[in-house]
Amino acid sequence: CGIVGYIGNDNAQSILIDGLKRLEYRGYDSAGIATLNIKNGSCQTLVRKSFGKLENLCNFLKKSPCRGTVGIGHTRWATHGKPSTENAHPHSCNRISVVHNGIIENYHEILEELLAQKRKILSQTDTEIIAHLIALEKSKGNNLKKAMQNALLKIKGAFALAVLDENEPNHILCAKEGSPLIIGEGDDAMFVASDFPALLPYTNKFLVLKDGDIADISKQSINIFDKKGTKKKRETKVISYSA
Ligand code: GLU
Repeated sequence: CGIVGYIGNDNAQSILIDGLKRLEYRGYDSAGIATLNIKNGSCQTLVRKSFGKLENLCNFLKKSPCRGTVGIGHTRWATHGKPSTENAHPHSCNRISVVHNGIIENYHEILEELLAQKRKILSQTDTEIIAHLIALEKSKGNNLKKAMQNALLKIKGAFALAVLDENEPNHILCAKEGSPLIIGEGDDAMFVASDFPALLPYTNKFLVLKDGDIADISKQSINIFDKKGTKKKRETKVISYSA
């Protein structure tokens, strides 16, 4: 039930895990992270997930670390599909990875459409269908932002989302409807989280997303759009927060 994201120059894995630990109070049954690792000029997505405590994920990462300076992380509170490693987030389709807090209400309808198109669904979550919808929109030639916008028009429910695309490693796309999501501005780095405590060691400059917002985040920029893709004028503010 927590999301963390990072794009910058430091090792993403340690920032994601640290942020997830700070969100432990929200409760969870499994955890996972995805990073984008650029190696010999090509980008690959690295995903690690574990059932149960965050400690299990940390032990897994000790044996098999995720390199890269861009990533998303998640602690899950299962609503669709039992708590398990396969249902843990991030969920991926083609080169897209998604973490999600909330519930997709028209999940069954969309699942049936995807199955009718012979798409292979690997988990029982309502989240995986979001990855498929975005991947489908990308396959039509849209960039990630437009693909996300089009996919969001199809889903009903509550969500906070953070999305990575191996083909566009220089940004993270986020969206919020009903579930909380904030962005933190660092020095040549940006952070995403479902709540302030995750980011307090890193920044005091925040932008609290509103329902209907789509955020396009790079190391040095935050651009907010509405569902139609129209740019909104919004700025980060210094917020003093004591836990
Ligand atoms: N509905 C999603 C799931 O069951 C997300 C749950 C959450 O908010 O952690 O996987």
